[in-house]
Amino acid sequence: MSKTGFKKDTVCVHAGSIKDSQFGGVNSPIYTSSAFEFLDQEDSQYPRYFNTPNQKAISDKICALEEGEAGMVLSSGMAAISTVFASLLKVGDHVILQEAIYGGTHYFAKTQLEKLGVTYTMVSGTSVEHYKNAIQDNTKVLYFETPGNPLLDIIDVEAMALLAKEHQLTSVIDNTFASPINLNPISFGVDVVIHSGTKYLGGHSDLCFGAVVTNNRIRQAMQNTAINWGGSLNGQTCALIERSLKTLALRVHQQNHNAMKIAETLYGHKSVDQVYYPGLPSHPGHEVAKRQMKGFGGMLSFSLGGGQRAEQYCRNLKLVATAVSLGGIESSVTIPSITSHAKLSAADREKAGINDHLIRLSVGIEDGEDLVSDLLQALG
Ligand SMILES: *Cc1c(COP(=O)(O)O)cnc(C)c1O
Repeated sequence: MSKTGFKKDTVCVHAGSIKDSQFGGVNSPIYTSSAFEFLDQEDSQYPRYFNTPNQKAISDKICALEEGEAGMVLSSGMAAISTVFASLLKVGDHVILQEAIYGGTHYFAKTQLEKLGVTYTMVSGTSVEHYKNAIQDNTKVLYFETPGNPLLDIIDVEAMALLAKEHQLTSVIDNTFASPINLNPISFGVDVVIHSGTKYLGGHSDLCFGAVVTNNRIRQAMQNTAINWGGSLNGQTCALIERSLKTLALRVHQQNHNAMKIAETLYGHKSVDQVYYPGLPSHPGHEVAKRQMKGFGGMLSFSLGGGQRAEQYCRNLKLVATAVSLGGIESSVTIPSITSHAKLSAADREKAGINDHLIRLSVGIEDGEDLVSDLLQALG
């Protein structure tokens, strides 16, 4: 149940909508203007001030879905991530980041934090104790993701939020993989939730945007940074995002359902070595996932047995697309060793459990049995 008193499926359809009082249409009108009247106005409206009607409509909807006080939508997931870092940090500060975060965030930390005069420590694994040990006197932010990419590692969200509170750190989670339908980190005490809307929120592989949901104080603090960094969206794109969000719960329910069915089928199959899915009792994070997630999500990975090469397997697929990115209505696979984790050395990949036989699957909304058939026929 959300703060509005409605369940998620209802929130997806109705929260934030702009009432069409002029014509009575059921959809939010699209306001295309980048120039607004200034006489007798309290605030000047402008796209890069993140306050135009369609920006506010989708920000309110995502905020209701994440059960937060205030939100902001930006032009990409990385715009959201970089704006959050720039808002929360100043020269001399220190950040703790999970080692296994999204590649783009890793790259941002490596190449941009130094320019801001910020130092960081990368922590590997899912143990909260390891994060605690990395805290320094000047640490300000604790940043993590769960489920992780590509092995769906699960971190205890409540324990991380508590650790941050005890040490006066701001906790930030990238909730892209779970989506607001499966995990609501703010309800566990996390301060800032980020989404790459390009994935599940958009859901049709045709939009690029990001979202931040947080409390009023941090949202206020972000405003000035966001205006200066300028990662804003126009009204037409916001209207497409609103349309996508209306079916988010419906899509994610089907993706959860399909992923579970696929994971159960692949698990124990003679041509499959390992299946990584938090919904399987064999997954090391299963118990924590069961406690904190409402569904186990549409992402899973598996490694091929019998020496079958991942590339050959992908070429055998007829229905499932071989495409980078995730969260779309169409199922797609990637090979982490040659895409997301190609920059790691072979030894580091092996250490992270990412071998040349590993396939990452983003499960779509197709019929589950059709997906299972295609995934099985491609096995060697
Ligand atoms: C894709 C992705 C991002 C970056 O989002 P963009 O919209 O591509 O900028 C950040 N985090 C995660 C987990 C992602 O999958």
